[in-house]
Amino acid sequence: MKPPALQRIVVATANPGKLAEISALLAPRGVEVLPASAWGAEVVPEPHATFIENALAKARHVAAATGLPALADDSGLCVGALGGAPGARSARFVGEAATDGDNNRKLLEALQGETRRGAYYYCVMVLLSSPDDPRPLVAEGEWGGEIGLAPRGTGGFGYDPLFVVPALGKTAAELAPEEKNRLSHRGQALRRLLEQLEARWSLP
Ligand code: IMP
Repeated sequence: MKPPALQRIVVATANPGKLAEISALLAPRGVEVLPASAWGAEVVPEPHATFIENALAKARHVAAATGLPALADDSGLCVGALGGAPGARSARFVGEAATDGDNNRKLLEALQGETRRGAYYYCVMVLLSSPDDPRPLVAEGEWGGEIGLAPRGTGGFGYDPLFVVPALGKTAAELAPEEKNRLSHRGQALRRLLEQLEARWSLP
């Protein structure tokens, strides 16, 4: 049996860019997308070593705080020569108060003299209908690339100026936002989540 129509989703993020990307896909289907901040629900820390645990923790916290279905994502950069680091610690590679610039400098230093530059961005997105939903929707996305020798481009955020998309010869920071959404780990995960939503939950 299908659950009742999904009309409102709270997104567990403080990042307006992510909220806009998620709204762009769900709003045309009649789903209202709301930020957790509208309830004063702060987004919980991300203490876990895996992306999926962090995403579930964020979604569960927000579903409990709001009483509404909650969507959360967790994402990061995994670099082969660094054994998958910075991984789930991507935002805090240098430390808790790290800026994107700090993290990018540390990444370049860690790869100095390294010829293996392969890396991928990963994103997992989860939707919990309630805090104790035993069967959350889970969707993943992965975007392969290489870590460049110096930053290029001004778009995007995080590691984008160093993340080279080999087929395009450009960094993610040199792509137009729509092009990045079409290719990115987050865009892929979001589209897959939407397919699952359509299959399992009725949309209004
Ligand atoms: P979170 O998913 O908000 O926890 O973000 C994880 C971190 O991974 C970000 O702060 C960035 O450092 C990195 N990251 C995730 N997705 C991207 C992306 O699309 N571009 C650049 N960096 C990213």
